[in-house]
This record gives sequence, C-alpha cells and structure tokens, in this order.
Amino acid sequence: MQYIKNAKLVLETGILWDAVLAMNGNRIVGYGMTSEIEIPANAEVIDAKGLYVGPGFVDIHVHGGGDYTFTAAPEKAVKHFLAHGETTILPTLYYDLSKEGFLEAIDRVKHVKETTWAGKAIGGFYMEGPYMNPKYGALADQNKWRGDILPAMYEDVVDAAGILAKVWAVAPEREGLESFLAYAKKVNPNVMFSVGHSEANPAQIQKLKKYGIGLQTHCMDATGRVATWAGTRACGPDEYCMTDSDMYAEIICDSLGIHVNPDLIRMILKIKGVDKIILITDSFVSHEQAPKALRHVTDLVFDHKGDLNGSRLTMDVACRNMMTHTNCGIAQTFLMAARNPARAIGMEDEIGTIEVGKKANLVFVDDMFHVDTVILEGKVLRQV
Ligand SMILES: [Zn+2]
Repeated sequence: MQYIKNAKLVLETGILWDAVLAMNGNRIVGYGMTSEIEIPANAEVIDAKGLYVGPGFVDIHVHGGGDYTFTAAPEKAVKHFLAHGETTILPTLYYDLSKEGFLEAIDRVKHVKETTWAGKAIGGFYMEGPYMNPKYGALADQNKWRGDILPAMYEDVVDAAGILAKVWAVAPEREGLESFLAYAKKVNPNVMFSVGHSEANPAQIQKLKKYGIGLQTHCMDATGRVATWAGTRACGPDEYCMTDSDMYAEIICDSLGIHVNPDLIRMILKIKGVDKIILITDSFVSHEQAPKALRHVTDLVFDHKGDLNGSRLTMDVACRNMMTHTNCGIAQTFLMAARNPARAIGMEDEIGTIEVGKKANLVFVDDMFHVDTVILEGKVLRQV
C-alpha cells in the first residue's frame, strides 16, 4: 500500500482539501480527509505538499512532441508527454501517411505499448483521417487518400489497428464513406467517429450519426462552410457541434488563442459547457521557423510556408491556457483534460477521474497547472 498525504484531491464533483489517497499496486483503493484515514506507521508515504492531486491527463489527439513523433519514435514521445502529466495518450496518425506508413506506425506503437513501462500510457490510436477533405488542414497538399474510398486500401489499416483504433476522424462529405464507417465499426464496435477537416453541412453529418459520430476534431480549426445563398452564413461542422448536445468539441487551447480565438473559446464553453469540451494538444514536431511576429511563442508549430501546423502544447500548458482564457476553475479544467476524453473513448471505467477501483494515474499540480509529480499505474515518476 502507498499513501499520498497533504493533498488537495481533485474529484469529479469538486475538491477534497487536506486529503489522503491510498493506492495498492496500480489501483486507487481509497481516499478521504486526513482526519478520517489512518496511515500505518510502516507505510510508504508520498507527500503532496498541499498541491492539487488530480487524475492524470488524457490526451486523445497528439502527433508527437519533444522532437519525437509517434510514427518514428513512440517511446520517446510517450515519455515526453508523461513528464507533463499525460498518463493516457492516443498517438495520432495522419493522412500524410501512405497505407504502408500507417501499417508501420501501428506496428511500432503497438510494440512500445506491449513491451515498455512507458507504453502503459498508450491507450490506443486516434486516426486523423485518412478520409478527410483535402481542402482543409495542415499538410493538406500531402493527403495521400484523395481518390475513391476502396476496401483494398482501408481494410488492412483498420484490421491492423483493431480495437485500439479508438477514434477515426472523417469528413462526412467524402463520397463512399459509409462502407468505411461500417467496416471500422464492425472491427471495433465501440469506436468513436469524429468530424474533422470537413465542410459537411448538418444534414450530411446527421445522416451518418447512426454509425457513432460524437466528436468534432479540433473545433473551429480546419473546418469550412458551403453557403447556399450569397451573403448568408452557412452551417458546417462547427455549427453542428454547437447544436447537437451529444457532440464533444475538441479544443486546441494555445496561449495566444491562435488556433481558437479566446472569444470563441468562451462561446464554446457557454454553449457546450464543461461536460462536452475536450482539451487536446494536437502537438506536432516541426523545425520550420515561425513567422516573425510569432517567434517568441513557445506553444505553436508552423510548416514550411509559415502556416499553422499544430501546436507544441502539453496538456498542463493547455489547461493553464484554458484557465487564462476563461473563468474555469481547476476542478472544471481537469474534467476537460481527463474525464471527458476518457468518456469519449469509452475508457471511463478505468481512468479519467479519481475513484476507488480506477487506475492510480495521478498528477500533482499547483494552482496554475505546473506539474510536480506524475504517477502512472501506482509508479511514481518525479518530474525533471
Ligand atoms: Zn491533429
């Protein structure tokens, strides 16, 4: 048994201050006020020094970080994010990969998941594509999946990922998409489909809802609208997400509000509420120079043309930015960075909140999300 003392425990319903949490092996086995829980004299004790102790972050949309992509060096990439409190990560594969590229990356990530300690943090895959609208998104010119949607192309990739493919992001307007959705759902009945890199109208999205569309890939980014009448405002995926209460909205919350303007972040928060927002990093690795005006910014990534190409965020920083841009408190921000993403990918029985029986995945932070300690399945990882 291990005990964490002097903790402000961030529970789903609020904060239990002056608390103790007990872990046995990789599980949480109890918690309560300091006055209620007796710590045995010979027990192993971790002092949280009055910090907030919350559920480890769940980052469902992340391509790489710390110079390492999940396609080339998944173990190093996982360790980078683990140090920032991300105890569940969905390595995200992009449509710039060919079929062979997908298969190789799936193999490499699976190997790390099955054979390394850090691999315990890999929850599965987020497939950003391959069937998206090539008009939208970073590296859109490198989309290798523009032509017909053919079983001979997608079946091997879907089979290789199996039930580890937690999310497939798709553009509902792609012709012939339904055969792909049906196949991916057959292979993983619990799969979540997400609308992304798309200009689909609400009717096109609604039509595919029966397959299990419940998420919008980086809301307000890489989306379009097709107007029926000149001078009127059309509705696309962003508007659909705002009106359908079932939909989760992913937000890339960078420090300047470049991906999503802070006014729009506040609007999404007002409409969707804290229960339907999922913070993501969408972190990417790139060594291209930032445009001159943004050279000082540390949490953005640019492509060779100087266009935005994802972020350099980690979830601790995304949480801090969310608090900076909105009136959210620490407990609400944890919901958006741990509980909601865990729910969206169907892993809420194991992770996402502090509850007896769940995995002992925890992060100690101060009141602005500076990470002090990370615990993965009961094993303490002190941050550098
Ligand atoms: Zn992405």
